[in-house]
Amino acid sequence: MDVSHILNSLNDAQRQAVTADSGNLLVLAGAGSGKTRVLVHRIAWLIQMEGIAPAGILAVTFTNKSASEMRGRIETLLGHPIGGMWVGTFHGLAHRLLRAHWQEAGLSEKFQILDSDDQLRLIKRLLQTLELDEGKWPAKQCQWFINQQKDEGLRSTHLEHYGDDYNRTMLTLYQAYEQACDRTGMVDFGELLLRAHELWLKNPGLLDYYQHRFTEILVDEFQDTNAIQYAWLRVLAGKRGHITVVGDDDQSIYGWRGARIENIQQFTQDFAPATLIKLEQNYRSTSTILKAANKLISNNAGRLGKELWTDGTEGEPISVYGAFNEQDEARFIVDQIEQWVRKGRRRDDCVILYRSNAQSRELEEAMLRVGMPYRIYGGFRFYERLEIRNAMAYLRLVANRDDDAAFERVINLPVRGIGNATLENLRTIAREQRVSVWQAAQRAVAHGMLGARAAQNVGGFMNLINQLEEYSAEHELHLVMDYIIKQSGLIQHHEKEGGEKANSRLENLEELVNAAKAYTMEANGNNGEPTNAERLAGFIDKAALDAGDAQADAHEDAVQMMTLHSAKGLEFPLVFIAGVEEGLFPHKMSGDSLEGLEEERRLCYVGITRAMEKLYLCHAESRRLHGEENFSRPSRFIREIPAELRQEVRMKGQVSRATSWQGGIAAQAMGAPDSNNGLRLGQRVRHPSFGEGVVLSCEGNGNNARIQINFDAVGGKWLVAAYARLEAL
Ligand code: ATP
Ligand code: MG
Repeated sequence: MDVSHILNSLNDAQRQAVTADSGNLLVLAGAGSGKTRVLVHRIAWLIQMEGIAPAGILAVTFTNKSASEMRGRIETLLGHPIGGMWVGTFHGLAHRLLRAHWQEAGLSEKFQILDSDDQLRLIKRLLQTLELDEGKWPAKQCQWFINQQKDEGLRSTHLEHYGDDYNRTMLTLYQAYEQACDRTGMVDFGELLLRAHELWLKNPGLLDYYQHRFTEILVDEFQDTNAIQYAWLRVLAGKRGHITVVGDDDQSIYGWRGARIENIQQFTQDFAPATLIKLEQNYRSTSTILKAANKLISNNAGRLGKELWTDGTEGEPISVYGAFNEQDEARFIVDQIEQWVRKGRRRDDCVILYRSNAQSRELEEAMLRVGMPYRIYGGFRFYERLEIRNAMAYLRLVANRDDDAAFERVINLPVRGIGNATLENLRTIAREQRVSVWQAAQRAVAHGMLGARAAQNVGGFMNLINQLEEYSAEHELHLVMDYIIKQSGLIQHHEKEGGEKANSRLENLEELVNAAKAYTMEANGNNGEPTNAERLAGFIDKAALDAGDAQADAHEDAVQMMTLHSAKGLEFPLVFIAGVEEGLFPHKMSGDSLEGLEEERRLCYVGITRAMEKLYLCHAESRRLHGEENFSRPSRFIREIPAELRQEVRMKGQVSRATSWQGGIAAQAMGAPDSNNGLRLGQRVRHPSFGEGVVLSCEGNGNNARIQINFDAVGGKWLVAAYARLEAL
């Protein structure tokens, strides 16, 4: 059989990995060395040369998008479709298993996915029920606690409080949370994985079936698996399965969510005998970019140690742009992209990466101003939009009346004269009788437990939902969606809001009808002819799981935007990293501990190594984030890149705060410091008694000029420049 097309475009080490004897294999290698490529080719090889049926293969990818890309590439290599193969994320695969085996998993048939927003709401309600003060027990922190336990595979029954007050409270909350989820048929993201693991442990027959079925397991981005994912793989592989994992310890960036780098180290023991193959040639980046990445990451201790080289061209230096503020930064980036496009290049080839989702708004606005199409991945996803969540809540209630989160979300949306007191009433009944709020409402109405008006309004709402369900039994999903939006009064509700916002919300609702239509077609294609109810349930899950990318049309050539975290595994000719500042990147939340700082550095390594041809690092002297103006220094990560690899850039005609300060008022006030150590806004200084701080602003001239400084220890102070005895740092 001619397999040259599978092996042709591989180097020796890659070929060795692709053709390695069926067994356990670890490919450990740096960014851009072809790990994902090896996985794709190995799957094609297994099917074509080892005669493995596609249905015998399970492949785990990092995002849904990479799953469909992987499938596409394998099909291209083989020249035919590979229907039965399972490819997906850990969450997606777990979900698929649980849907198929809900009974064995101890779930209700109609279980639904609780996304993190709903989860937070539920926790807030539970805190109230338990009479815990949210000031003392912040809901987010509680959410964090619960998720962390689940990522470690721990249920409340596994935990002990050891008499500690904090632990005791968290444990009580965790128990209440588990009960609430069970009662309402809700499954959060962590629960998907936990249940899927328990599914193996509790059902040996089922496990045996899947162990026989999936004889080849392949995992991309293995460095970011957490404890429960690792355990799930281990059980599935058992003694029979062969497992291939590829990863890079330097790109482990989900430690904060329980990912464990040690899994890589442990692999060769747990899955012995395992072959270890290292790839050392980078095919992605210019040598300048690669050198910068290598140098940066060498500042981390305890690495597994890999070499990475390229025979690619040197390429351009890395451009560092010091912006005046975040608007200037955004303008600069848009400007560079416009120049790129003028040279005949594609917008698709450009990505803007940022540390925090909140940074995207300014960038979006800058692009909107010049009419540049863009697409945001992750972040504010389509299905996370308020109006979409509202409409979906109706659909969820149609599918499952016991979905308390959905009930609470829309019972009085649009306004139906059902006040908080009535709702509180219903909650109490639900709590006392251990039923869902819907059932509580049914009982309350039937037994006259509500006032006449409240009973009428609640009854009206319930009739509406019942009526929607009747309609849904007879009609196609997108018609149901359309019907819901109209009958529920959501359209009028949003119309009343008025303005641009309302328009965009209404458009999104229309888009939801389209999405439902597209889903129906997809579902019909995949699984024969699902029933209306199955389609409806499937669509609800998709909405909860999917990262439905909105913004630019799918086919439009658009600039890509995403957080550094979601850029893993991707590559782009032109990369901008925005906000490379101390406090933002490394993030102040993580930068305090050595561990946290090293994870931030790995994240920066991931960012840099996305770039193929050209990389820009941008930082701003001042930035408004979460409503507060911050002044900061360029990130240490910039300094960690050797100076000869980078180049400072200025925009033409730009008046920077730095320049005007040095050249004008300030120069006089400071007794004309030379331009190298003159003070600038945002600069760090040291004062003999107040210690270190940041220059915030300057007023006046000459000897009377006053400077405002925010000192780390004592806060903001105005000082007379002439006497301040400030030392520039
Ligand atoms: P990351 O760590 O970022 O996930 P990776 O190790 O998975 O990177 P790939 O994405 O598989 O790397 O490959 C990086 C780029 O190099 C891709 O464009 C790929 O097509 C190309 N490439 C990999 N190996 C070869 C090769 N032998 N010949 C030509 N191009 C290659
Ligand atoms: Mg990869």
